Amino acid sequence: MSQSKYFKNKIKLSNNLSTTTVTKVKSENTEVLDQSKTQSRTKRVRKLQHIKLETTDDGDDDSIIPDNFFPMYNKIKEMRKLITTPVDLIGCVKIPALLFLITKRFQNGITDEISIDQIPNHLEELKLIENNKLNIDKFWRFQLLVTLLFSSQTKDEINYQVMQNLHLNYLIKGYKNGLCIESILNTSYNELDQMIFKIGFHSRKANYLIETSKILHENFNDDIPNNINDLINLKGIGYKMGHLILQGAWNETVGISVDTHMVRLCNMFNWLPKNEKNPDNVRKLLEIMLINHKDLWMEINPVLVGFGQTVCTPIGRRCDLCWLSKIDEFNDVKCPVIDKKLLLRINRGEN
Ligand code: SF4
Repeated sequence: MSQSKYFKNKIKLSNNLSTTTVTKVKSENTEVLDQSKTQSRTKRVRKLQHIKLETTDDGDDDSIIPDNFFPMYNKIKEMRKLITTPVDLIGCVKIPALLFLITKRFQNGITDEISIDQIPNHLEELKLIENNKLNIDKFWRFQLLVTLLFSSQTKDEINYQVMQNLHLNYLIKGYKNGLCIESILNTSYNELDQMIFKIGFHSRKANYLIETSKILHENFNDDIPNNINDLINLKGIGYKMGHLILQGAWNETVGISVDTHMVRLCNMFNWLPKNEKNPDNVRKLLEIMLINHKDLWMEINPVLVGFGQTVCTPIGRRCDLCWLSKIDEFNDVKCPVIDKKLLLRINRGEN
């Protein structure tokens, strides 16, 4: 089997999303990653020098940052710039803008859904929507909270599909802003449970959502809390979600949101002082480690999650394409857990 066919098969294996579009996006991404390594070497040499500047002059507390953290992290960031991942298209923080677009289309008489395949056609419009801070109102914030509540034990594409159906359903029923606190409070538990049955633990989450909507209506003036303590007091919301909600809804970053990809990668790369599987403990360790680098607290989540969804996945690591797999004149760090058998097979031309 040729290398390109081999890569495509590996992509399918590692694909978290089942849609052909995202498979195609990933396939194109990996080709871009491969080509880019050859084509932009001069450019990356300059960036690597910049990385070294970033790792110096940071004060005493940086002594707890492992030597390989910044070189590896910055190289992952460089790779991420070349690839579009599920978290970039339909991750929870992207959902309110997608729903905003659906509302606009609905107001113009378009009641069709926007499939995941079609999202790349709307990226410019979505960016404009996201960049206009006036759009981030209490409806946007509530929808962000709901999609994050749904996200645990639910694949991104299912979450997007359920959120879109729910939103369109409420628009059709006459709610100007679609999914909102009022629409949830006017929905029975059974009806809501039926509408969200595709998401993980839907019955429990239907309960949580109705209860949360009541609390937000009665205690928060039909808006969502603007601090982490009140957020994590809501049923089904933990620190991982709470920090993403605070960042997306209130532009506040007071902690790091850690998901399973981050736990896996941080342990694999020996970035933590000890092996740690509990996401909340990983969050605390990362926050201590990056106490002088709060500018990374928000970005580290999408950088690592996207990398874990596409290049270094739990079921099909792409060491053959990953820039961390070898040291050469342009790369001065190496991943500690390279799949050497895979590289050997590729070098031998085996599939
Ligand atoms: S295990 Fe492979 S794909 Fe993952 S970071 Fe290391 S070299 Fe890259």
